[in-house]
Amino acid sequence: MNTADLIQLAAPGVRSLQPYRPGKPISELEREYGVRDIIKLASNENPLGPSPKALAAMADEVADLALYPDANGYLLKQRLAAHLNLPASRITLGNGSNDVLVLLAETFLTPNAEAVFSEYCFAVYPIATQAAGGRAVVVPALPADHAMPLGHDLEAIHRHISDATRIVFIANPNNPTGTWVPTPALKDFVAGIPPSVLVVIDEAYFEYTDPGQAADAVRWLDEFPNLVVTRTFSKAYGLAGLRIGYALSSPEIADLLNRVRQPFNVNSLALAAAQAALDDVEFIEHSRAVNAGGLAQLQAAFDTLGVSHIPSAGNFVLADMGRPALPVYETLLRSGIIVRPVDNYGLPNHLRITVGTEEQNGSLVDSLREILG
Ligand SMILES: *Cc1c(COP(=O)(O)O)cnc(C)c1O
Repeated sequence: MNTADLIQLAAPGVRSLQPYRPGKPISELEREYGVRDIIKLASNENPLGPSPKALAAMADEVADLALYPDANGYLLKQRLAAHLNLPASRITLGNGSNDVLVLLAETFLTPNAEAVFSEYCFAVYPIATQAAGGRAVVVPALPADHAMPLGHDLEAIHRHISDATRIVFIANPNNPTGTWVPTPALKDFVAGIPPSVLVVIDEAYFEYTDPGQAADAVRWLDEFPNLVVTRTFSKAYGLAGLRIGYALSSPEIADLLNRVRQPFNVNSLALAAAQAALDDVEFIEHSRAVNAGGLAQLQAAFDTLGVSHIPSAGNFVLADMGRPALPVYETLLRSGIIVRPVDNYGLPNHLRITVGTEEQNGSLVDSLREILG
């Protein structure tokens, strides 16, 4: 059997799957271009690093690395339950929230089942849907001249739900656009979805959002048994490298996800660090403040440069270069700055730029000014 025949043996969804394109790692840019002092504004990581409390907790845990982690993550679930004011039976821990998004797809999508999501949504939804063998229903986004340009169109999403729909994915705020759906509209939307359809609200940037912007959908879990909220320690908590996130759902859905989950999907360092990170309220407050300042700094600079950009409730901005963005991206790489091209999202003129420290943002703006001249 030759290689081409073997490829035909792969599951149908996998055969036509395009892999996820991550932001370029710093070490790769060093290897390829020989540049130093690299600034990475490509993956919406916290520029302040991890919380010192999380680092200390991890260091304490290292001596026990020969042992398997607690497969049920008991202590972290207890800590999260107290933090979120809900029972631990609603929590599913994941190897990043990406893991729980995949678990949801694996658990609920069969070959005839559909997942509905917006154009320009987070790239993991189509990948998880297709890999699980489900059908993707992509709903046109809001137009570029809308107050939430390229954002989720809840009414259109609602119209695309059919008897075959099992999951609706909503990112709030959305990545890569940064747009959000206001709380009352989102709650009405969830209330209008048939109870047989799971509504997954991805709140990866929750800690960065202002209460007046995106909703805290966790408060609606009691009301809607078909609601699932996902969150992560990768963004504001600064623990992306550890891979830890979670889903909040009805205990029944959590029980189903637990059947599919790998027994030790979350490692012991991540469990320890996440617990400590939840206790570091000061760190999150500081991270929020640095992000708010940095977001305003970038938006003001883009306005000065005549670079149009989309409103953001996260720690990143989607900016329109007004020309093909890949050459701009390449030139930034050569000056040691990594941002994120989004041509694979169907946005060839945009770059997604993570909010860094004041100094990092300044360097990015200086380079962009030169490039766009
Ligand atoms: C970054 C991100 C995630 C998840 O990342 P994990 O590191 O897997 O927790 C999930 N959803 C959105 C919208 C994101 O931007």
